[in-house]
Amino acid sequence: MSEMNRIDHYLSTDGIRITVADVTDAARRAQEIHHLPSLSAVILGKVLNAAAILAMDFKNHEGVSLKWVTNSPLGTIHADAYEGRYVRGFIENPDDGTIPYTSAEEAKWVSRRGKLFVTRYSLLKMPYVSAVNLSDGDTASCVSDYINSSDQTLSHVEIEALTDKEGKIIRMAGFIAQLMPEGDKKLFGELFAKDRKWDLFDESGKEASLSTLLHKENYVLLGSAPVSFRCTCGEDRIKHSLQGLPLVEQQGLLDDDHIEIECHYCGKKYEISRETLVKWFNEKGGNVQ
Ligand SMILES: [Zn+2]
Repeated sequence: MSEMNRIDHYLSTDGIRITVADVTDAARRAQEIHHLPSLSAVILGKVLNAAAILAMDFKNHEGVSLKWVTNSPLGTIHADAYEGRYVRGFIENPDDGTIPYTSAEEAKWVSRRGKLFVTRYSLLKMPYVSAVNLSDGDTASCVSDYINSSDQTLSHVEIEALTDKEGKIIRMAGFIAQLMPEGDKKLFGELFAKDRKWDLFDESGKEASLSTLLHKENYVLLGSAPVSFRCTCGEDRIKHSLQGLPLVEQQGLLDDDHIEIECHYCGKKYEISRETLVKWFNEKGGNVQ
């Protein structure tokens, strides 16, 4: 594992590409903002981590948005990774904290008959959405299924979390390994066999640590960036979406002297006065008073 709170992109001379992300602070921040008990916090942290490692094409500023329809009481989980260094996300209906986090619970809540929608875009690509039906498994194996079916390259994903006794996130990291077209398939199969787990947090140089693998001389670091939780919300975005509402709905917003809008992603509250609303609506050719 490389440093905390970074995304690193490696390529080996054996033709294996690895993107590793440690989103510890972002996952902690998400837990704090959304007041999440351990189960929801770890699941959201892992989905944030998944978005970060799926944005592999960092040179072309690839962005990834995940819409994870769990079909469990959690509802839909949303996560975005953008500009190669920011993530944000939320869970529609977090659990109530009565079930402590375990990996078996995780698999139960994220995957059962759910569906994962992935939007990817970059400087070179218009946004495009692909989807996969989720079979049983934890967050990482669902992401593995998605990438193996959408990219048709041999891929392997692991995402690990550490929590304290109170269920607070201590560490959150994950990686995706992909076999390049000219890569060593046999070696890839050995390194990333289904029953083998890499230790993502150990730095002591033992054989099973991802950091030991990545520090071998045939691994080249292609790119590296800090990663943090950051939202894209702002008054401008609210203005544009409100201006897009049908006239009847716009009129309905003018009943009170102000409206309050809370961002799902970061919890920020916006208070917008009636006067401002009238100005915005009239800018767009409306005729409200
Ligand atoms: Zn926000």
